[in-house]
Amino acid sequence: MEYAWQILHRFGPAPGKPSRNLRFVNEVTCAYCRGAGSDPQYSSASGCPVCRGAGRVGVVPPVMVCRRCGGSGRVGGDLICLTCKGIGMVPVAPGAGPCPRCGGTGAEGIFYCHVCKGQGIA
Ligand SMILES: [Zn+2]
Ligand SMILES: [Zn+2]
Ligand SMILES: [Zn+2]
Repeated sequence: MEYAWQILHRFGPAPGKPSRNLRFVNEVTCAYCRGAGSDPQYSSASGCPVCRGAGRVGVVPPVMVCRRCGGSGRVGGDLICLTCKGIGMVPVAPGAGPCPRCGGTGAEGIFYCHVCKGQGIA
């Protein structure tokens, strides 16, 4: 895992933040409902809008913890993170590297980088 190591080496894992390691899985626990399958905001019978009640979401590996929401799948309380669609993980294109625009920080000043959608990877 040379690529993941380079990312960690260059930017370092922030204390208390999820690891930026790539994960080669094709299914992840739904971050928005934390695998419960129920809507954490409305607790409606329709279930979690992200995983549709399954508690797990299929993804295309490799995936990485969403930088925007920190893997929680939500922003500003219980709003679904638009970057990862509430899954908490985002797909990483094979061979992708640190974003050339923001240098991998995912941000430009106070704004989030639109080239990499705040992920720091492009
Ligand atoms: Zn869910
Ligand atoms: Zn997210
Ligand atoms: Zn960027």
